[in-house]
Amino acid sequence: MKELFKIKNLNMQYPIIDGLMGNVKGYVYALNNINLNIYENEILGLVGESGSGKSTLGNCILKLINPVSGEVIFKNEDILKKSKKELKNFRKSAQLIFQNPYMSLNPRMKIYDILKEPFIVNVIKNKKEINEKIIKIVNLIGMKEEILNRYPHEFSGGQRQRIAIARAIILKPEFIVADEPVSALDVSIQAQIVNLLLELKNHLNLTMLFISHDLSIIKYISDRIAVMYLGEIVEIAEKEELFKNHKHPYTEALLNAVPVISENRKNKKIILEGDLPSPQNPPKGCKFHTRCPYVMEKCKTEYPSFFDINDNHKVRCFLSEK
Ligand code: SF4
Repeated sequence: MKELFKIKNLNMQYPIIDGLMGNVKGYVYALNNINLNIYENEILGLVGESGSGKSTLGNCILKLINPVSGEVIFKNEDILKKSKKELKNFRKSAQLIFQNPYMSLNPRMKIYDILKEPFIVNVIKNKKEINEKIIKIVNLIGMKEEILNRYPHEFSGGQRQRIAIARAIILKPEFIVADEPVSALDVSIQAQIVNLLLELKNHLNLTMLFISHDLSIIKYISDRIAVMYLGEIVEIAEKEELFKNHKHPYTEALLNAVPVISENRKNKKIILEGDLPSPQNPPKGCKFHTRCPYVMEKCKTEYPSFFDINDNHKVRCFLSEK
């Protein structure tokens, strides 16, 4: 497997500004020392509760926000060191699909103009080429050319998300961050959009970071899964391995929260209780220790490193220390 991205020691903090004086009175610790490879043509699922840092990680990888430290290596170059001008090619290669198709499409623009925007931004002027590509992409997302003369409000949520996906892939990117792309949609529509993303991934040889809080969707679409808790990756493994042989108590708690019909689940040990601790003041030691039923004394003071379960499975928990 060849890496498309190597993410090294990535840290992100947001300052909390005092409203009156403009002083920094603290920080929100959004990402803590993230190390992660994303391989060519894979879908890496990123799962965790709301506030765990998933979207911040996706935005840092695309350099939509600047992390405070670390590296994001894309094809042997650190994109965090690149200027706006130098990022031009990267912007064509890496795109974002937003969560909410009601907000991400400009209501004043016709669909044709929405799909034409990426060409304008990238100074592509050949009208014939643009028209051909727009028609091709509309067909690829299962819609008809007649939509091009209409406005976003004339479409359902699922149709709008198809259009948003078309805009993201129209310049044939290599990499997509799909940030909760179905969570704003009706359950009946979610499967259609997830299947569309899978078809497009295969058709266009895409690599994808698929962000969701919903493990059942992550299980369906992903090749590998990374579990995030309070700004850290706590477990990463191939999909089947993670579901059959998960090691982190937080992963177990997330799996126990997935509704299962007519299955006699034997291993229902952890029910996740309480809220995520404040990222302004994260717990010392293992960040999950305030909610972990297996907590030991050392978990409260010592920080667990990543332990290898096998070549493709790592976990940040003292229970897996050898
Ligand atoms: Fe629980 Fe300790 Fe493992 Fe953290 S390191 S998940 S507190 S057992």
